[in-house]
This record gives sequence, structure tokens and C-alpha cells, in this order.
Amino acid sequence: MQVGIPLRRKLRAVDRRRREVRMFAAAMQHRTRPVLAQIVPIRRCNLDCGYCNEYDRTSAPVPLPEMLARVDKLAALGTSIITISGGEPLLHPQLEDIIGRIRAHGAIATLISNAYLMSHERIRALNDAGLDYLQISIDNVQPDDTSMKSLRVLERKLGWLAREAEFSITINSVLGAGVRHPEDALVVARHARSLGFNSTVGIAHDGGGQSRGLSEDQFHIYQDIRKMETGVFSFAHFDRFQENLAHGLPNAWHCRAGARFLYICEDGLVHWCSQQRGHPGIPLADYSQADIEREYAAVKGCAPFCSISCVQQTAMLDQIRQDPRGMLHDLVERRRATDPGFRTPVLLRFLAWAFLDNRWAGALRGAFARLFGLRTG
Ligand code: SF4
Ligand code: SF4
Repeated sequence: MQVGIPLRRKLRAVDRRRREVRMFAAAMQHRTRPVLAQIVPIRRCNLDCGYCNEYDRTSAPVPLPEMLARVDKLAALGTSIITISGGEPLLHPQLEDIIGRIRAHGAIATLISNAYLMSHERIRALNDAGLDYLQISIDNVQPDDTSMKSLRVLERKLGWLAREAEFSITINSVLGAGVRHPEDALVVARHARSLGFNSTVGIAHDGGGQSRGLSEDQFHIYQDIRKMETGVFSFAHFDRFQENLAHGLPNAWHCRAGARFLYICEDGLVHWCSQQRGHPGIPLADYSQADIEREYAAVKGCAPFCSISCVQQTAMLDQIRQDPRGMLHDLVERRRATDPGFRTPVLLRFLAWAFLDNRWAGALRGAFARLFGLRTG
């Protein structure tokens, strides 16, 4: 009997959760194991957003054997999540093979796309390849001369995705300097929610990854979008950084780029992030545990006003690792500040009990590692 898309979607969500718990356990257990790597299979893009420094108009796709070798190397380093970005990754003719290889290693496969090239066939192919997450950034409601990543242009394709995709979809909108119609972010987030997608909001950064705060109006919009977030394990809650930046305040944190987060450019070099290319600029094929150790300890001068949220989120895992009780408490209290009726979910209470609050915590951690086939030490 053919299983319908809603049921397949649910079954895949359960499997995704299992691998996310595994990712979390691995991050807690191994200080220098990469949590998240971003890989670029093609730098070419079909759009030319006015603010973007991550694309060109001419480059060819990275050959498939090279991309597969990069995925294999990331898996050998123990990477839990591999995100494919660009340029526009849907321009790579063998994108689904890359996703399949990520999944074959048991990692979580994520794709960042402008969705212009999405079609019924492509959605089916991404389903079959085992894609876990798709993130689409939408900048405005109507296209303008800065960005064509617009709700009105993509509405039809979003409808196809809502009906046919078996993977989880997040729509990201942006606030901050240079955003002409900040109120659009709320329209985009509401539309995303109405389709059953997740919605997040980021703060615009300059070419060095640095942000300048939000105006008061924009901050209210930011808060309204944040209130739509429901799941406590969503990375959107790990937003202490964003809130400070929204107020124009720096963050005191240790960026672990080059260790917990790796950015692999189209040439196969490891960089701290998309905005700090050239550091350390070592070929992924040669990247070693010693490189990871060095970058884990390195202090990045760009950290205080950095708005690269995926790197901050991986750094927060290390903060949980160092002070689990304080971080869990902080997470719940911050959620309560925006939603006074918030009750700590059962799973979070269980984790707090299993790993923090009882005298068998050490034994439970060991059993957990064995259950998920994790290396110890
Ligand atoms: S769609 Fe994305 S990669 Fe392409 S130009 Fe716009 S921001 Fe850059
Ligand atoms: S602090 Fe880290 S993530 Fe942010 S711009 Fe610098 S290297 Fe990149």
C-alpha cells in the first residue's frame, strides 16, 4: 500500500529527531568534533541580490567525485550536520547524489536555496535523496532592485512544497540596516506559518559578518516573529546573541569557527565562515584534529558584533557542555520572558534529570553514548 505524504513526513520527522538527539549527544561528548559544516557545490547563482558577496555568475559546478570526497572527509571528522549552500545549490546537476552521500553517513542533510528552480520533479528528487531540512530566505513581499527573493514570486512554489515535501521547511526573513520594508518580515513569517513551515528572522550583516542594531520599530517586529516560535528545541530559541545585537550591544562569546563550524568553499578550502574567508584557508583534504584544536582555541576579533547565527548556535552547544545547568535554566527562563504561560517540555525536563540532577548521571551518559554508537573519550 502506498503511504501518503503526511504519514511519510511524520515518520521522517521522528527519524530526524533521533539523529538530532544523536548530534546533541555527540556535541556534548566530543569537545572538538565539528557540529555543523557548510559546503558549496557551486558558487554560481541565478539571482544577483544587491547585498550578497557569496556568488558569481559564471562558475561551473564542483565535480561530483570531488563533492563526495569532501562529504566523506567531513564524516570522517565526525561532522553531525552538513548544510549545502551556494551560490544556488539547485543549479548543481547532481545535488541529490551529494545529499544521498550525507545521509549514507548518518548525518543531517540541510539545504539553503532561493527556491526559484524548485519544481514538482525536484521536490520528489529531494524527498527520495533523504533531504532533512530546506531553508529558504525571503527578503520582501514584492521584488525590488535589491532582492528578487520575494513572497509574491515564490508563493506558488511554496504551495507545492507545503503539499509535496517530506522534509522540514524553514522560511528565514531578515531585519536590520538596508532592509527597506521591515514590516514585510512579519507578512513572510505569517505566510510561512500558515503553510505549516517554521519561520526565523535574522539580523542583516555587512561583508565582515558584523551587524548594527535594529530600530525600535524593527525590534518590535523581531519580537512578534520570535513569539511565533513554538518548539523548545528549535535553534531559534538559542537567540541570546540576536537579542543583544538587535539592541546594538556586543556579545561576549568564543566563536568556535574552524572547529565546531566549518565553511568549505567551492575550492575545497576550510574557512571560519562565509564572511571570513582565508582563515585558515587550509584544504579540507588536509584538515586535521590539530587544526580543529587550534581553531577551537583561537580568539576571533570579529566575534562581538557577529550576526552569523548558525556559528553562534554551535558555540552555545559548548556553553551547554561547560555549564549545562545554567544554560538549560537560561533557555527556559528566556522563553518564559516572552511567554509567561510556558511550561518546560517533558523531554527537556528528562534531559535535565538524566544528565544533571541525579547521582547516576555519569552512568546514564555512558549508556546514552552506547545506545547511539558514539565513541567515548
Ligand atoms: S540568492 Fe542567495 S546566493 Fe544568490 S545572490 Fe541572492 S543571496 Fe546571494
Ligand atoms: S565571529 Fe566567527 S562566525 Fe562571526 S564573522 Fe567572525 S569568524 Fe565568522
